[in-house]
Amino acid sequence: MGPRGVGVRHEIRWVRVVTGQMTDRAPALTVVVPCFNEEAVLPETARRLHALLDGLIEAGTISAASRVCFIDDGSRDRTWAIIRDLSRSGGPFGGLRLSRNRGHQNALMAGLLSVSGDLLVSIDADLQDDPEAITTMLRSAADGADIVYGVRGSRDTDDMFKRVTARLYYRTLRLLGVEIVFDHADFRLLSRRAVEALREYEETNLFLRALIPQLGFESRIVTYARAERFAGVSKYPFRKMLTLALEGITSFSTRPLRMVTVLGCVMSVFAMALSVWALVQTVIRHATIPGWASTVIPIYLVCGVQLLSLGVIGEYVGKIYLETKRRPRFIVAETIGSPFLSGAEPRG
Ligand code: UDP
Ligand code: MG
Repeated sequence: MGPRGVGVRHEIRWVRVVTGQMTDRAPALTVVVPCFNEEAVLPETARRLHALLDGLIEAGTISAASRVCFIDDGSRDRTWAIIRDLSRSGGPFGGLRLSRNRGHQNALMAGLLSVSGDLLVSIDADLQDDPEAITTMLRSAADGADIVYGVRGSRDTDDMFKRVTARLYYRTLRLLGVEIVFDHADFRLLSRRAVEALREYEETNLFLRALIPQLGFESRIVTYARAERFAGVSKYPFRKMLTLALEGITSFSTRPLRMVTVLGCVMSVFAMALSVWALVQTVIRHATIPGWASTVIPIYLVCGVQLLSLGVIGEYVGKIYLETKRRPRFIVAETIGSPFLSGAEPRG
């Protein structure tokens, strides 16, 4: 079940979202935890989040309706059984199971679009993200932020390879014009209206950490120390990580296509110059062996023209590609007065 399966289709391509809904009562917090074969860490994660929620409810920071929702991303171990037991235990737990493994990003989206709550926090199941940072995130939300990014303060727990590739990758993304928060993964808080705005993004190729900044709204950063995985092994083998990394580029930037166009133009000009030179060498200076010019000129020209044509086609493919995403063109945060379509009423 992709995000499309959970989302609601609307005819009207713009949204108005509720504001000021959390002014006089404590907001209900829902923590969304994607889990894929996480039987080794789940009991501890549940215990830690339960304790955290209890403390926050006690302090009056969040309402008693706050919950932890585990999203089982088609696990093949006891993950779902544990989630079921947890939700029957009377604690603040809920669970959602996907029909099969759809990957971290889809599991997150399914969770975010399916749960209730005024404030939603997504966090990894393996306790690498510090649950205590949620307290700070809530403070930022109370100050009016709609999006709070959890940013890891240091990469001490990563090995050299991951550290170097991650830095390089974030820089490449920036160069390609993708708006992204450095060292932020998927530990973040979203307000209800940010989630409702996110619902309008119907794309199937998900890369949430670059999608969220596109929502706009006021955002903050909370820094935390990233821990080692509490138990179990990483569910992100190199292959999955590479897929996600490519997703980040191809879903948010058409610059690689533009690069082909530019390269094609440069090559064409270069090929023309070379052709003129080859002609001069042959016809005027007679400095070549017979057959040389008639062989190299077509090669130069055809190469240049081919690359240029590829680039032009790429430009159009790029446009089609962006259109098929059907991203909302704008999101209205607030309206005043009454001249609005009834379909644009706030939802959720
Ligand atoms: N995850 C998921 N589906 C997948 C792979 C991972 O829901 O197909 C979840 C996983 O259970 C964890 C989070 O995504 O809660 C991050 O995965 P992991 O900690 O293994 O990644 P790493 O921290 O090693 O990059
Ligand atoms: Mg992890």
